[in-house]
Amino acid sequence: MLNEWQIDCPYCGENFITTVDASAGSQQYVEDCQVCCSPIVFHITVATDGVLAAVDVNREND
Ligand SMILES: [Zn+2]
Repeated sequence: MLNEWQIDCPYCGENFITTVDASAGSQQYVEDCQVCCSPIVFHITVATDGVLAAVDVNREND
């Protein structure tokens, strides 16, 4: 299931909508900011019923 999620870039502070795939379960991956192209680390939390519960974003080196 694809979910649209609004996040705030940890580098430039701009917010944008990204698409998160909850079907793969909880995971971590890197995706470039759509505004400043910096590598944002996404921490995806998916509940046991498959619903996207949380999206946390961090700088790559934090
Ligand atoms: Zn950015």
